[in-house]
Amino acid sequence: MENKTNDQTTQPKGENRRSALKKLAVAGTAAVLTPSILVGQDNQYKIVIKGGRVFTQGALKSLHVGVTYGGKLKLSETPLEGRTIIDASSKIVSPGFIDILGDNASNPRQTYRLFEKYKVSDGVTTVLQMHGGAMFPKKFHQHFDRVPHYTNYGVSIFVMRLRLRYPLSKRYYYVEQGLEQGALAVAHSMEYQPDTSYAEVLEYAKLAKKYDRPLFLHLRYSDEKRELEGVKEAIRLARESGGARIHIDHLHSTGGTFNMEKALELIQNANNMGLEITCCVYPYSYWATYIVSKRFAPGWRKRFGMTYTDLTVVGTGKKITAQTFPTYRRRHGVLVAVPEGTMPFEKTIDLALQTDFCMIGSDGGIQSAPRANNHPRGAGCFATAIRHGMDIGMSFEKILDKVTTLPARLMRPSLNNRAMLKDGNIADITIFDPKTIRGKASVANPNQFSDGIDTVIVNGDIAYQNKKLLKSKGKPIIYKG
Ligand SMILES: [Zn+2]
Repeated sequence: MENKTNDQTTQPKGENRRSALKKLAVAGTAAVLTPSILVGQDNQYKIVIKGGRVFTQGALKSLHVGVTYGGKLKLSETPLEGRTIIDASSKIVSPGFIDILGDNASNPRQTYRLFEKYKVSDGVTTVLQMHGGAMFPKKFHQHFDRVPHYTNYGVSIFVMRLRLRYPLSKRYYYVEQGLEQGALAVAHSMEYQPDTSYAEVLEYAKLAKKYDRPLFLHLRYSDEKRELEGVKEAIRLARESGGARIHIDHLHSTGGTFNMEKALELIQNANNMGLEITCCVYPYSYWATYIVSKRFAPGWRKRFGMTYTDLTVVGTGKKITAQTFPTYRRRHGVLVAVPEGTMPFEKTIDLALQTDFCMIGSDGGIQSAPRANNHPRGAGCFATAIRHGMDIGMSFEKILDKVTTLPARLMRPSLNNRAMLKDGNIADITIFDPKTIRGKASVANPNQFSDGIDTVIVNGDIAYQNKKLLKSKGKPIIYKG
């Protein structure tokens, strides 16, 4: 059907199938046909989405969407025939959301199913762990490519872990090896390893540039006085590496918490000069991090203008106190959240969202059940982002750009045949109801599916519908140069 120049394939697939069946029946072999071939013999497409407003080429259009039996897209102004029909009247049909900052690095073999379950239920079809990922992406894929996935998945090179294990020369060697083997990006977090010199990060930036991959950075400072130094360091890295693509993780929590306007201006000016610097935010006005982390090193109350009782253990709702803090501080894996409004929307996230270089990244993931000790962004980031975008008057086109097109451009060329609804692309689709979409995950109970996510299609199969998990057709995403 895709090949209109060939007479034999201009007839609908159903026609081909029917005539093939006839021939087989004549030959007396119809009895061996499997039911899956017989089902839908009259239907041209495996799935047809009708009546929705479809986000394509940067605009919302009334179109019908067909998914071929090979999992490819076909857009049409006229109705299509399909084996499964999805009525998307009053809904929006978007490319599946891409989470560039999913985080499930601590124990992925045990938790990846749960992690992906809460991503797909939030409308995410591709989860890329670009904040950390894996020390050896090839090894990661050797394991994970053999098991079922709800979403597409990929990793960056986790420099923090390499640094804990190897001397400088080995780190560079393994980063380069990972890039040669198809790692999607290089990732480092200077705030968590303050002994990282500028010269060392510059080497990573140069390698990223050499292999045409982005360098993802959690910047060096998050306090009011120095946060902009971190932004300037990222810009300097882009410049002195000869133009590496630099992505700043969660700018509103690290780099632009107190001086967002200035941070955005610095980035905009750098981009105007021809550099390529992007950033992401998650749509929550509070951050959460592990209590053992450097963020809570002595002086944290002064640095953040907070006290003990401002910290809540995620998943329990329990408050920390001056008495319990020292004990918790020694416990690995305890995630605490700061109060809502710590990063006021109007002074941080909303400003960043107005720029064309800021996208959505969750910086999270659900790793346990029934109540995870993970920031609710792990389950509700994307539905919350769309609801928030609507609340502050952003157009659908603008907010959908930040969850589809912009992340795909940053990861180019690895997602070039996804992230955009157009003929021949791979069918990763999220259908949502603009009236009801919203994240439900909370600090007290992060394990909640988002509302309003109607259907999620991954590689041409329905992975999630009506709050139920269905097929596991996620595929590995590696760099394709
Ligand atoms: Zn971070």
